[in-house]
Amino acid sequence: MSIHAPSPAPVTPQAERLRITEIFLSLQGESRSVGWPTVFVRLTGCPLRCGYCDTEYAFTGGEWMSLEAVLAQVASHGVHHVTVTGGEPLAQRACLELLTRLCDAGYEVSLETSGALDVAAVDPRVVKVMDLKTPASGEAGRNRYENLGYLSLKDQVKFVICDRADYEWARQTVATHDLTARCEVLFSPSYGQLAPRDLADWIVADRLPVRFQLQLHKILWGEEQGR
Ligand code: SF4
Repeated sequence: MSIHAPSPAPVTPQAERLRITEIFLSLQGESRSVGWPTVFVRLTGCPLRCGYCDTEYAFTGGEWMSLEAVLAQVASHGVHHVTVTGGEPLAQRACLELLTRLCDAGYEVSLETSGALDVAAVDPRVVKVMDLKTPASGEAGRNRYENLGYLSLKDQVKFVICDRADYEWARQTVATHDLTARCEVLFSPSYGQLAPRDLADWIVADRLPVRFQLQLHKILWGEEQGR
């Protein structure tokens, strides 16, 4: 009788795996797709530390999943919209491949990104929802302005505004980079930091061509994780 060593378990290459914090079904609470039933794929890890971050639980932990397993879990929810978020999803190399595979599968795909990492290689079918971090976030120095050259009219730039000084900075940034000619611009009050009505009044008074938005999921479900 010959004795064979057990064959090693197949190893999924790092580039084909992602560290995932959660995959869940909810309503899209932000952006131009607000209100659509959407599957969220939340990738683990973020190199930034914004003062108002509401997803610190995604900085660490999570579990490794193959792209196939992620795609299968997304498909199990049976909806057309998928948002890849974090953390900072682009901090993981395989995120780019996931985005392309989701587009290939026919989903309406959006990517929520901090604006600190290069978006050049993101599949052009993906709707990019990209932050520009304001001074009060504590991470304005991380903004990668070269990314603006990769945005198109279907994409969105989002400012989370913490106070009046942030508003003035955002207004100036929109003008300096002619952002409203490149994409849609979203202004959102930082939850619990700035009264939504104040921001709404400032936008109206200045007749800014930006879209005010509230985080619908927080109005509906507060800060419950997985919503
Ligand atoms: S980029 Fe997003 S996930 Fe990262 S610290 Fe800022 S708010 Fe949190």
